[in-house]
Amino acid sequence: MPKVFDRILIANRGEIACRIMRTAQAMGIDCVAVYSDADAHAAFVDRADAAVHIGPAPAGDSYLKAEAIVAAARRTGAQAIHPGYGFLSENADFAEMCAANGLTFIGPPADAIRAMGLKGEAKRLMEEAGVPVVPGYHSADQSDASLAAEAERIGFPLLIKAVAGGGGKGMRVVHDAGQFADALAAARREARSAFGNDVVLLEKYIQVPRHIEIQVFADRYGLAVSLFERDCSLQRRHQKVVEEAPAPGMPQEMREAMGAAAVAAAKAIGYEGAGTVEFIVDVANGLDGAPFYFMEMNTRLQVEHPVTEMITGEDLVEWQLRVAAGEPLPLVQDDIDMDGYAVEVRLYAEDPARDFVPATGRLDRLAFPDEDGILRVDAGVRQGDRVTLHYDPMLAKIVAWGEDRRTALAHLRHGLRNTEVAGLATNLSFLQRVIDHPAFVAGDIDTGFIARHAADLTPPATAPAPEWLYLAALGVVARRRAQVAGLAAASGDPGSPWHRVDGWRLNRPYAETLTFEGADGLRRHLTLVPVTATDPGSDRDTDADRPHAGGYRMTVALDDGDGAGSVEAEAHVRLRGQTGERFEAVVDGLSVHATVQVHDDRVVVIHAGHTAVLTRHTLRVDADTDAEAPGTVRAPMPGKVLAVLVGEGDPVAKGAPLVVLEAMKMEQTLTAPRAGTVTALTLRPGDQVGDGDVLLSVADGE
Ligand code: ADP
Repeated sequence: MPKVFDRILIANRGEIACRIMRTAQAMGIDCVAVYSDADAHAAFVDRADAAVHIGPAPAGDSYLKAEAIVAAARRTGAQAIHPGYGFLSENADFAEMCAANGLTFIGPPADAIRAMGLKGEAKRLMEEAGVPVVPGYHSADQSDASLAAEAERIGFPLLIKAVAGGGGKGMRVVHDAGQFADALAAARREARSAFGNDVVLLEKYIQVPRHIEIQVFADRYGLAVSLFERDCSLQRRHQKVVEEAPAPGMPQEMREAMGAAAVAAAKAIGYEGAGTVEFIVDVANGLDGAPFYFMEMNTRLQVEHPVTEMITGEDLVEWQLRVAAGEPLPLVQDDIDMDGYAVEVRLYAEDPARDFVPATGRLDRLAFPDEDGILRVDAGVRQGDRVTLHYDPMLAKIVAWGEDRRTALAHLRHGLRNTEVAGLATNLSFLQRVIDHPAFVAGDIDTGFIARHAADLTPPATAPAPEWLYLAALGVVARRRAQVAGLAAASGDPGSPWHRVDGWRLNRPYAETLTFEGADGLRRHLTLVPVTATDPGSDRDTDADRPHAGGYRMTVALDDGDGAGSVEAEAHVRLRGQTGERFEAVVDGLSVHATVQVHDDRVVVIHAGHTAVLTRHTLRVDADTDAEAPGTVRAPMPGKVLAVLVGEGDPVAKGAPLVVLEAMKMEQTLTAPRAGTVTALTLRPGDQVGDGDVLLSVADGE
C-alpha cells in the first residue's frame, strides 16, 4: 500500500488505537500514540512508533485534552490526527484546532460535524434533503403549551429526546397525555445537567424497531458511496452488543433505498471521510416494506466497522487515510460488492450476574483464537493488563465471516469457545447464549430482543459442570506435586519418601477429598481415588513411573450439610498432558482441554468459552478407612514460613511451638498437636505453603 502520510498521531487508546495502527503501519506510516498514566504499559503504546504521555488517567485530563494532543502531534512531527471513535472524534472545535495548527484531521469537515451535532437541526437538514425522518416535532418553539399540543398531534406513545442528547440520556417514553408534563420536565432536567442544553424534540415512539445503519464514505470531490448496511438491533440499554452485516432478511429494494438516503444525507452536509447514517426501521409488520427513518449520523469510524470490512473486503481505515490525504474514493458505487455474512460481538468487562456492572481487575488470563481471515479479533488489552473504571469496558471485538449467516455464526461460536478470559467477570458466556439463541439464529431480532429473552440469556448461576471439577482437582494435585518437588529439591534429600505427594501414606492407596464452591453457591466434594494399573477401570498406557498415571476415579457429591452427600457424577479421569496452565485430561475416554489456574483460595477452570471460579474449602485427606494420622500438622491457610523452631527428630511436648507462618499479613505460630518426635520436616524459612499443605508430623512416642 503506497503511503499517504509519513507520520500520524492517534488521539485514542485501546483496541481502536491498535486497529488504526494495523493499517497505517502496513501503509508505511509511522504512528504516534498518546497515553494517560493508566495506559503507560498498554498494548497500543508498545505498538506505536512513538508515544507521548499526555496526562493522568481521567479522560478529561488526558484523551479529551485537545491542546495537549495537538502539542504532542507538533512535537513529534505528525502530519495528521486520527481521532478514532468517542473522545474527540465528533468535536468540531478539535477538528478546527487541528486545521489551525497545520494538522489534517482524519474525519469530516468541522461544519459537517456541527450539522449532525444537534438532533433537531440534523432532522431538519435531512427532511430538506428528502431523507425520511421519524414523524414528530423539532422546531424552535419550546413552550410547554406548544409541545403539549404537538404531542397530541403526534399521538402516543411518543418519545421526548434532548436535541443535544447521547447515550440515551435526556430521553423519555410517554405513554399517554397525562404523563407528558412530568416526562417533559424530567427530560429537560436531565438534558440540562448532562449537556447544558434543555431543548427537546418529540417523535413517534416506534414500538418494534430494528436499528439498521449504513456505512457511507465521501471524498472532497463530491463523490459519496454506500458500503451497505449493518444491523445493530441487539442492544442492551441502547448499548450495542452484537452487530452484523448484511442485516438478516434485508430486502434488496430497502438496501438500495436506505443506501441512497444515506448518501443523500452525506452529500447534504458536504461530508468527507467515513460516516454512519443510523436508521430506525418499524418492523411491527415485518421487514418487508417496513418504513425506515433517519435517526442520526455518526461522523466518525464506528466500533462495528469490521463487519463491513469483512463483507466488502475493503479496509475502511485505509480509505479514511487516503481520503484525508486528498485522494478520491478508492471505488465507485458499482465496484463495491458484498460477499457473505459477518457477525461481531463485543466482549465487555462486566458482570451479567450482577446486572452487568462494569468489572475491574487484572486479566489473569486472556487468550484469543488465531485470526485466519474468517475469524478476526480486534483487542486492545493483553494478559496481565489491569482493567480500570476510567474507560469504556470493552475488551475486544470478535468477528467471524461465513458464506452465509449460519456459517458465520458457526465460526463465531467456535471462536468464542476458544476465547479465554479470567481475573474479572466478562460477558463471554452471555454472548454465546445470545448467538446460540434459537430466535437469534432465526434472525428474529429487534431492539427489544435482549430484554425479551433475558431469562434465557442471563439464567441463574448453574452448577459447575463435573468436568470443571475434575480439572480443578487435577490442577490442585499438579500444583501440590510441583510445590513438593520444589521442597524436596531444596531439602537435599530428594529421594525421601516424605516428599511424595501421592501415596505418601505407605502401603495404602488413599482417597482425597477436595471441596469446591461453584457459582451456584453450593459446596461439592470431589473425591479422588487413584486407579492402579491392575484396576479394570484404568486406561493407563505409557507413563508407568509417574504417580497415578493410571488416573483417578473421581466422584462429585453435593454437600448436604453434614459433609457427605448424594453423588452427582462419577468418572475415570486421567491427566494426559500439562504445559504450564494448559491441561489435557481424559475423562471416561474423552479428551478435554482446559486452562486451570490454581490459586490458594480458588481454582479457575477455563473451558470451551466459559470461565468457572471454584472457591476452595479446607482440604481434607481421608484414608479410605482411617482418619488422618493424629500428629499431622497442616498449614491452616496459605502463607510464608518465617521460622522453623524445631529440627527433624527433636522431641516436643504437646503445645510446643513448631513453625511460624506469615499469612494474610499476620504471624501465626503452629504448635505440636501432641507430644512426640518431629518427623517429615522439610520446611525452610522463606518457603511458601498452600492451604492444607502438610508441614511436618509429630510421631508418637520418644
Ligand atoms: P442517543 O444519541 O442518546 O444514543 P438515539 O437517537 O441514537 O439516542 O437513540 C438511541 C436508541 O433509542 C436507538 O438505537 C433506538 O433503540 C432507540 N430509539 C431512538 N428513537 C426511537 C424512536 N423514535 N422510537 C423507538 N425507539 C427509539
